[in-house]
Amino acid sequence: MSTENTNPQKMQDLLAQTQHLQSESNPLSSYMRTPQIYFSLPSQGKYYGAGAVDMPINGETPVLSMSTRDELILKSPDALMNGQAVVDVIEHCIPSIKNAWEMPIVDLDTALISIRIASYGEQMGYSSTCPECSEFSEYEIDLRNFLDATIDLSDYEDTIEFKDLKIKLKPQTFRSSNSTNLEVFEQQRLITLVNDESLDAEQKQDKFNEIFQKMTSLTVKNIIGSIEYILLPDGTRVTNTGFVEDFITNSDRGVFEKIEKHQAMINEKMPNKTVTTSCPDCNKEYDTPFTFDQSNFFALAS
Ligand SMILES: [Zn+2]
Repeated sequence: MSTENTNPQKMQDLLAQTQHLQSESNPLSSYMRTPQIYFSLPSQGKYYGAGAVDMPINGETPVLSMSTRDELILKSPDALMNGQAVVDVIEHCIPSIKNAWEMPIVDLDTALISIRIASYGEQMGYSSTCPECSEFSEYEIDLRNFLDATIDLSDYEDTIEFKDLKIKLKPQTFRSSNSTNLEVFEQQRLITLVNDESLDAEQKQDKFNEIFQKMTSLTVKNIIGSIEYILLPDGTRVTNTGFVEDFITNSDRGVFEKIEKHQAMINEKMPNKTVTTSCPDCNKEYDTPFTFDQSNFFALAS
């Protein structure tokens, strides 16, 4: 080890220089990302876990464009599958969202679309084949149409009555929705696997029954995950997931069906993500479903 840096004066100078560097603002900072657009979260900041969102007073959330790092994150297939890439990019581009795992799922599409607009602009290209004349064409849509669509969450405020209980629902978090999606994906993989295996009919049936049971329990898990609390006549709010799960699995089907029906009603009110496409060849107008799946959504832009 060299001894020349042990000179106390030299050490002092070096330290001063480092501190100077730290306190001085980066002259490149004005070239870095600044908010590109502002948008309102459909949830308006409700239904987030504690500390997961820091809402601006006017309710307008700033959105920064994706950095080189974000684009690299989104290109990693593993990170996309487990949801971490989406969480990282949302937290990095929408600074008001502190913990995107705890974001209600009703905000997901709006958040992704706003990041897409902030990064690549309002227009987005897509291609579609006409159902009438089979003509394949390229089109463009204005993503602001999707941002402007009103999302009615008022039915989450109503409670479901069962005997003298009141059941209150909430939108699922990204964490719980992502984990369900992964499990459903796994079961679908198993179905293909069982189909291809050289098993006799009875063995296959057993395996399918197993998968069916797993899918049923996923549906139940989903419903339990969407319960915010159950209110007793004496005013007690039961929020403990274990107690709620116990109640749902040990009640008759009536309660489960009521909750499912209420959830379906809420889902029906969600704006349809379709885009009206008009074929340049035969003038046929048709609706194209639009999926804001994060993997294809961002891949289209690059
Ligand atoms: Zn056509």
